[in-house]
Amino acid sequence: DQVDDVSRARALTTADHRRHPPKAANSATEDPMTQTPTAPPARKPAARAARKPRGEGQWALGYREPLNPNEQSKKDDNPLNVRARIENIYAHRGFASIDPGDLRGRFRWYGLYTQRKPGIDGGKTATLEPHELDDEYFMLRVRIDGGALTTEQLHVIGQISVEFARNTADITDRQNIQLHWIRVEDVPEIWRRLEAVGLSTTEACGDCPRVILGSPVAGIAADEIIDPTNAIRAIVDRYIGDPQFSNLPRKFKTAITGHPLQDVVPEINDVAFVGVVHPELGPGFDLWVGGGLSTNPMLAQRLGTWVAEEDVAEVWAGVCAIFRDYGYRRLRSRARIKFLIADWGPEKFREVLETKYLQRKLPDGPAPETPARPGDHVGVNLQKDGNYFIGLSPIAGRTGGQALIDLAELAEAHGSFRLRATPMQKILVLDVAKERVDSLVAGAEQLGLSARPRAWRRSVMACTGIEFCKLAIVETKAQAARVVNELEQRLGELDTPITVNLNGCPNSCARIQVADIGLKGQLVPGPNGDQVEGYQVHLGGGLGLDAGFGRKLRGHKVTADELPDYVERVAKNFLAERNDGERFAQ
Ligand code: SF4
Repeated sequence: DQVDDVSRARALTTADHRRHPPKAANSATEDPMTQTPTAPPARKPAARAARKPRGEGQWALGYREPLNPNEQSKKDDNPLNVRARIENIYAHRGFASIDPGDLRGRFRWYGLYTQRKPGIDGGKTATLEPHELDDEYFMLRVRIDGGALTTEQLHVIGQISVEFARNTADITDRQNIQLHWIRVEDVPEIWRRLEAVGLSTTEACGDCPRVILGSPVAGIAADEIIDPTNAIRAIVDRYIGDPQFSNLPRKFKTAITGHPLQDVVPEINDVAFVGVVHPELGPGFDLWVGGGLSTNPMLAQRLGTWVAEEDVAEVWAGVCAIFRDYGYRRLRSRARIKFLIADWGPEKFREVLETKYLQRKLPDGPAPETPARPGDHVGVNLQKDGNYFIGLSPIAGRTGGQALIDLAELAEAHGSFRLRATPMQKILVLDVAKERVDSLVAGAEQLGLSARPRAWRRSVMACTGIEFCKLAIVETKAQAARVVNELEQRLGELDTPITVNLNGCPNSCARIQVADIGLKGQLVPGPNGDQVEGYQVHLGGGLGLDAGFGRKLRGHKVTADELPDYVERVAKNFLAERNDGERFAQ
């Protein structure tokens, strides 16, 4: 039951850990390498003899034999090797020639997923075999570490979209750009064009280090604590595509920010480095480990240590290696680092990191101040060099290839050559001189990108949904646009943001548990008693000061048709009954 999961997660992960970071573990404690991370509590000798603890597939404890088909596939062949087969075989012989193990497994290491065959309704998602859901086209995820793009790069992505992806382009909540309708025959040419401008799809999906989230205002914000650009670059240059980290128990998500608004959702990443000033050592990063959503959501926990900018890549590699060696590989549902942290606790994790992986102690460090909510950087904002950056909002990240080309050209016409995708499905144009701001804002509006969006548009997010995702049960992107348009007409502007996040299935790609109104796609009883598209509602989640998971209200389900009415009712009730300054999640 997810309600119980949420309660457990809350108990594990409250803000107490932020306020009271664990001290470095005493080196006189038992050697953690010899302990079973999931060792059961002590029992009477007879009971202990009768029940041998079952391993969870941790490599460091000797469980090297694959315990499920995913582990077997990774052992059979390093997923990074699939690139050569795509280039040399599949691109020439076509979709039908693709080995199923590559198609539904190893292709992900290069950002490729088969997309959902059109016309299959959500009721069949769970009943059909994977090959019955597979279309012969792919979703391709372009990784954009730190969200940092040049106008040339954006132009290339837009042109690929127009030529090979039927003009699709979504800005994701992990600063990637996702294209659809890709044919395997076109993948080598797409890679050639991306790599010619320094972009890549390597490890954009799969059980490996995914795109590194980075502050979208790195290096330009006047109030930045520390610029994370070099730390992000060091991790990407040293470790992305490195076979030592290409077979992790599951995905591994990283976030790095030096901005006080903690603009990379660090609470829900596997590892996060959050800018903080140490009283003696100066600006650096606070290290958090073990955040994640989906089932058993947990907030990342502080290890209580301060990391210098030049040490971030080494410490990141240490955390990643612990996950590789001690992470649970038996069950996919327990294979995220958050379960290891939940069992070990941050003290033991830090001790293992320091003694076995870094061979040195890290300094204790202070906690960063918690912002009221994460920054989204939408609007016109002053840079530290006197120019402006302009945060633009599509609706739920949806844009298009031609719009991206036009945006790149618009930016260049206004003297800007840099952009940043954000973890809120937005995009920033940097380095605009004051006298050119209004003209750029007007031009972007013509492209469906608003610098002055109303709160509804600004605060909505949606995952891919049934349009392309094989796991989806319901539609999301168009539904988000409908909610935004209806609510803007009915309620106009809000004086406080209310975040509305839509997922197409029980996974949490659009972070529903940390939204004010989180909507989990499922079939629900319709007006005539039949099953129709709808959502299970989670209310009152948040990040920043309100970090915690929304409550799943039993029986609180809404059909897709009723959704705007439902959101309107909830918003009106909140606005009518709130106390002065009260936030939705409070
Ligand atoms: Fe697909 Fe579900 Fe993720 Fe949405 S939340 S993109 S439907 S897996």
